[in-house]
Amino acid sequence: MTDTIEETGLSPADEQAFADRVRAFLEANCRRTGDRQGTIGDEDPEGPSAARDFQAALADAGLAGLTYPTDFGGAGLTKRHQEVFNREVEGWHLPNTPLSISHGMCLPMLNQFGTSEQKARFMADNIRGTTIWCQMFSEPGAGSDVASLAMKATRDGDEWILEGQKVWTSGAHYCDYGIVVARTDPEQPKHQGVTMFIVDLRQPGVEVRPLRQISGGSGFNEVFFTEARTPADWQLGDRGQGWNLAVAMLMFERVSIGAGGGSALNADRTPGLIEAARARGQAGDPVVRQGLADLWIRERIRGYIGQRIRAAVAEGRVPGPEGSIAKLNGAILARRVRDVSLAIAGSSAQAWDAGDDAGDRWAVGCLSTAGISIAGGTDEVQRNIIGERVLGLPKEPDPWKGTAWEDVPRS
Ligand SMILES: Cc1cc2nc3c(=O)[nH]c(=O)nc-3n(C[C@H](O)[C@H](O)[C@H](O)COP(=O)(O)OP(=O)(O)OC[C@H]3O[C@@H](n4cnc5c(N)ncnc54)[C@H](O)[C@@H]3O)c2cc1C
Repeated sequence: MTDTIEETGLSPADEQAFADRVRAFLEANCRRTGDRQGTIGDEDPEGPSAARDFQAALADAGLAGLTYPTDFGGAGLTKRHQEVFNREVEGWHLPNTPLSISHGMCLPMLNQFGTSEQKARFMADNIRGTTIWCQMFSEPGAGSDVASLAMKATRDGDEWILEGQKVWTSGAHYCDYGIVVARTDPEQPKHQGVTMFIVDLRQPGVEVRPLRQISGGSGFNEVFFTEARTPADWQLGDRGQGWNLAVAMLMFERVSIGAGGGSALNADRTPGLIEAARARGQAGDPVVRQGLADLWIRERIRGYIGQRIRAAVAEGRVPGPEGSIAKLNGAILARRVRDVSLAIAGSSAQAWDAGDDAGDRWAVGCLSTAGISIAGGTDEVQRNIIGERVLGLPKEPDPWKGTAWEDVPRS
């Protein structure tokens, strides 16, 4: 059934005109294919400055932050415009991977939980890519169980003082601001004593140390806070509500990891797997064919999960456990893509011609895949959430439930 104007807010002629505008922008500013599989945690070869330039051009064309209000730097358009945009960019390489956390997680948090002063101060620069933001949850002793975090925030007049360490912070080395969760009330049980803050990362009390990954990249970091300060009115949400906001942000993250991304088959990766199988004479190999058909089906499923979630987000709802379904499905899909890629690439996944600039793409893609099952909550954690919140299975036992965080033994 075709959508009516009432349902979409857009006439077929307006929709066509908008699609033409998007296409003209893509033709002028982007290229058709990417050099390698960019995954969260990897360095984007084109880097943050290319992403900032690209995003500024997008904003100048009126195509950045499509559904965000014009008062806060968005384009003030409809969900339908976003769908048309998403459809048009399929098959194009947008050099904006360094903005994926800034836009996929931090921007929706500002929009949903920021005060009007915070929105007025931060959103337009975020949308335009003038500032880039990162997510700072994980600590050496708090990953899957992030609610047990130990980073301390102490009130000092009109400011909070932050002390402690974060780890695995993607992009902190080029980011301007972070969204941090810190412990403000250690005498409360662990979920109730944390608060969320916006923090300026370009201050003397913040030290960012890059971590080297197995793929050779350095996409994430350790970040040390020593008497770092943040103004009291940069607190996001109420004091002690940080856990609820963190759950909302994790859902945005899971959606952005699990429901986004282009097709591995023939769209924005070079070479698309179907094209690669043909070029290597493997299109008739029954194992490769079976693998490609399986990917095609799983990519369609990811698309449907994504549609459902985007519809919820466009209506102003924070995605629920469907975010975990998207994330788990995305991680399983990524592993299948890796396996089919390696079956097609054969020995070129391990050795390539010296002159082939993108020759490492198979190896990098393979090495980066494991991270997708960890970032944003591991596969096991997603299965726990789906078990409890979708299937209604009993919760994991917690012997320290209700105990003050400061009284819970930790190593
Ligand atoms: C590429 C990448 C990018 C990242 N970017 C960021 C970022 O930008 N910001 C940020 O804050 N963090 C980031 N992270 C960190 C990520 O969120 C954590 O690594 C993740 O939550 C797991 O925590 P952990 O590494 O401490 O593992 P642990 O929590 O120590 O888990 C170790 C193992 O135990 C299993 N396990 C733990 N608890 C349970 C349970 N209850 N039931 C069953 N199994 C369990 C886990 O599944 C895992 O296999 C990133 C991670 C990666 C890989």
